[in-house]
Amino acid sequence: MNEQYESVIGLEVHVEMKTNSKMFCACSAEFGAEPNTNVCPVCLGLPGALPVLNKKAVDFAIQTAIALQCRVAPSSQFARKNYFYPDLAKGYQISQYDLPLAKNGLLSIATDEEDHDIRINRVHLEEDAGKLIHIGTISTSPYSMVDYNRSGVPLMEIVSEPDIRTAEQARAYLEKLKAVLQFIGVSDCKMEEGSLRCDANISIRKIGSSEFGTKAEIKNLNSFRSVAKSIEYEADRQYELLEKGTALEQETRTWDETKEVTMTLRSKEEAHDYRYFPDPDLVAIEVDESWIKGLESKLPELPAARQKRFMEKYGLGRYDAKMLTAHPQTGVFFDEVMKQYSNGKAVSNWIVGDLMRCLNEAGLGWEENPLKPEQLAGMLKMLDEGVISGKIAKTVFLDMFESGKNAEDIIEAKGLKQISDKSVLEEIVETVVEENPKTVADVKSGKTKAAQYLVGQVMKVTKGKANPGLVKELIEKELENK
Ligand code: ADP
Ligand code: ZN
Ligand code: MG
Repeated sequence: MNEQYESVIGLEVHVEMKTNSKMFCACSAEFGAEPNTNVCPVCLGLPGALPVLNKKAVDFAIQTAIALQCRVAPSSQFARKNYFYPDLAKGYQISQYDLPLAKNGLLSIATDEEDHDIRINRVHLEEDAGKLIHIGTISTSPYSMVDYNRSGVPLMEIVSEPDIRTAEQARAYLEKLKAVLQFIGVSDCKMEEGSLRCDANISIRKIGSSEFGTKAEIKNLNSFRSVAKSIEYEADRQYELLEKGTALEQETRTWDETKEVTMTLRSKEEAHDYRYFPDPDLVAIEVDESWIKGLESKLPELPAARQKRFMEKYGLGRYDAKMLTAHPQTGVFFDEVMKQYSNGKAVSNWIVGDLMRCLNEAGLGWEENPLKPEQLAGMLKMLDEGVISGKIAKTVFLDMFESGKNAEDIIEAKGLKQISDKSVLEEIVETVVEENPKTVADVKSGKTKAAQYLVGQVMKVTKGKANPGLVKELIEKELENK
């Protein structure tokens, strides 16, 4: 796409909520059970079975609406969305249509360049469908199998306005949304398990134009990366067609993860294709102010507020504060360390740098973080007191992460204490100076920076344990006499 054009993107995100039971029956909503073991007449759509709404799911959706600054409707309604597909036992999905639970919200995102407010069109409730399972791919499998465990699992659909302009913004939006949902505890948002799924709507237009172009809806996006990649691909594809003078058709496309291309799935269905009508088995959801206020009071600190607090209270920069609030557990960890240690910037550096790298390399999420806040605080205190050098601290940190031991024990057992004993260091300095006459001559001739090499040599001999400040001092003194 060339720079005269811009993308217009709106995201539809489906989120499975962390309820124990399903949306309209008492079956377990747990992920990963043996196929077709969490089913009953309601979620199998057997004749005569009647749905009973799960209040916890409504609570979660209202909390989401509050966190996204939406207006919760005093009265909303379930509707039947009719279509045939083998994963949909009833022949219709219970969803919401013209009367959704909540509307008109806002999610602020930050990319490297700028901050943006993305408007939220709606948050509505619906039930999940079952899952088709194939041998290999859908097109080569000799048959389809269906697992109805997921049928009836509570879902929220969160629809953005077409306010997103770049793939990077789309990614930032999803990351922020995920952080918010995890913070308030309504979903675990595991894209790989399908508890957060995203469809991307995209069109392109000439910059400055106020009209929207014809959009394509991309399905089957199962990572943040594929959301970004597919948007970039699709923008280019549409641009090439427009440049050739070919009119675009509104359609639903699928993202091919291996070929990294979007492909036609079907021409876009219209709302009337679904023959929506109010579900006569379910009464309207009436939400009053006290219900909303009650749920609002139970909401934890949201990422934006936490970010602000970290910046104001601990003097952290925006980047640090953002990194520390991307996942709820990160901020909790930081707060815990700060109860026992005072330098926020130092703590942030160790968390954002070393700890995140360790977790990444070990393939662990924050929930499985083996490091305890008191371990990090303990090590930082020993670093400040000069018990260990900054270099040794890196080794101690890795050891704490891997072995679960405290810094003190590791330092003791491995003899990592910083050497601040003058007489011991003086001896080493003398030897190093004797062995490096050329460097000494360089320093003497005015290349004072060369002294750094001598410090390095002493650190090497002491395996990083020498107190660097003291070594520097001793070397200067030693050279004066030369
Ligand atoms: P549909 O009727 O096709 O379902 P909606 O108006 O309900 O379309 O919007 C669905 C999603 O598509 C929303 O996220 C919306 O922001 C986005 N969207 C709507 N029009 C466009 C467009 N021209 N280009 C990109 N995204 C769009
Ligand atoms: Zn059931
Ligand atoms: Mg729509």
